[in-house]
Amino acid sequence: MNPASTETVAAVLTAADSVAIISHVRPDADTIGSALGLGQALSGLGKRVYCAFSGPEALPGPLQRLPGVEFMVAAGEVPATDVTVAVDAATIDRLGDLVETFRAGPHSICIDHHVSNGGFADLDLIDPESDCTASIVLELVDALGSELTAGIATCLYAGLVTDTGSFKWARPASFAVAARLLEAGVDGARWSRELLDSHPYSWLQMVSEVLGASVLRSDVLDGRGLVYGIVNAEQMSGMNWDESESVIDILRTANEAEMAAVFKEVEAGSWTVSLRSKTDVNVMPIARRLGGGGHVRASGYSDSGSAEDVVAHLLAAIEA
Ligand code: MN
Repeated sequence: MNPASTETVAAVLTAADSVAIISHVRPDADTIGSALGLGQALSGLGKRVYCAFSGPEALPGPLQRLPGVEFMVAAGEVPATDVTVAVDAATIDRLGDLVETFRAGPHSICIDHHVSNGGFADLDLIDPESDCTASIVLELVDALGSELTAGIATCLYAGLVTDTGSFKWARPASFAVAARLLEAGVDGARWSRELLDSHPYSWLQMVSEVLGASVLRSDVLDGRGLVYGIVNAEQMSGMNWDESESVIDILRTANEAEMAAVFKEVEAGSWTVSLRSKTDVNVMPIARRLGGGGHVRASGYSDSGSAEDVVAHLLAAIEA
């Protein structure tokens, strides 16, 4: 860990002519919003800016409409730059195929808010007290002396509104950040709708199938209950990968279960699994037993086998 102040990071960026900003694999609104917000600020200061992420997936639809998306380049087309920046990546592995690109920069900067991030850059600007990486970027935009344009604010708002679950678990400081961003010209209603409340009709049909076939196991966790759903490969193939991410948010509302799980078959026999708990059950050790990790109340891992196999593996890990 090489802890750096916002001012130090701003000084290194100010001295650069070119900057590559790298988002994590399977990018979400916080990692892309942080990249495009910072990218717009640096471009406004006359820097050449390249934003990229690794992976075969396309950028999710709403993120393609964010201001500054013109700074996105394909992962293989990031040129050598004076500074490389990682945004919202808890480990360097989260940069996927762009790890070497990140390391190749004469100066590397990590900007993140994950409590588990031990730092992996020349300069680590990590604040676990921040609800999102976008809020840290806002402080950096201020330190750079950039004007907070509506375009920058929109990108940062995208990270803030999604990482706080529409402010459901936002800390007090995030409301002050939100007020500033909205006053800078963000259309909050539009972006909440686009980022959180919009799905293709096929998503509704997939969710109804998954919820209809979901299982409530009241006996698990000493009677506190587990609810789980399975999204099979056929259901997964009919939609963008990010559309399956929100199923867990519906399942976990079941009153009768302290814990929720969603098994997503990304290709035949190959699964990613999301775990959530409500109050005091720590799902992180359960995910760790299966090779994954995450947070106390939100973790995940990968597994393989039939649907019956992966469910059995989880039940065994819970009892372990
Ligand atoms: Mn984040």
